[in-house]
Amino acid sequence: MKSVFIEGLDGSGKSTQIELLKKYLESKKYKVTVLREPGGSQYYEKLREIHYSEIPRPPMSDALLTGAGRAANIQLTKELLNADQWVLSDRAYPSTFAYQHAQGVEWEDIATINKLALDGFVYDYKFIIDTPVDVASERITKRQGAKRDHWEQRGKAFFQQIRKNYLRLAEEDKTIIVLDGSLDIETIHSAIVSSL
Ligand code: ADP
Repeated sequence: MKSVFIEGLDGSGKSTQIELLKKYLESKKYKVTVLREPGGSQYYEKLREIHYSEIPRPPMSDALLTGAGRAANIQLTKELLNADQWVLSDRAYPSTFAYQHAQGVEWEDIATINKLALDGFVYDYKFIIDTPVDVASERITKRQGAKRDHWEQRGKAFFQQIRKNYLRLAEEDKTIIVLDGSLDIETIHSAIVSSL
């Protein structure tokens, strides 16, 4: 079966598209598992708590933590693929490029961490939902009101940098499909399905 990740800013519509894709694949009688990052595997779910905590640490700790968790997710993904399942990942290694580079970790260092975590694994389908920061932010407010975790509390410039980092990665890896997140939900879903 196949592995897919959907990436983008919070509020870009990742979870919405993952759910629609899951339903679509299940309607075709496929077995589907959804993983999320941070989290997914039992191991990375444990680390997720630390990731969302406000325990002081340098950005490199975040980069390394995501790498540690990701290695476990890749192992799990391979097992699920071997068990004939589709694996849909809500965030994956691009998030470390996007977020930790925006926090000042060197791009090359992140590439090394991801290389170690992925250990040669290549996703079959790679999507980034590219969404203007204001659009994503408005959707988050609609979804959860004014409540923000410590990641979401950062200023607009931080999220603009994250968006830029996603686009840089897509420039470097032409197999990543960049979707226009300002389009409506059904249009994006159709674009995803027609890319499979
Ligand atoms: P993410 O998982 O990327 O944080 P969600 O899928 O949770 O984003 O979407 C955030 C909010 O925006 C939800 O309320 C969702 O219904 C809405 N939404 C998602 N995609 C779109 C879209 N293309 N156009 C308008 N609203 C959207």
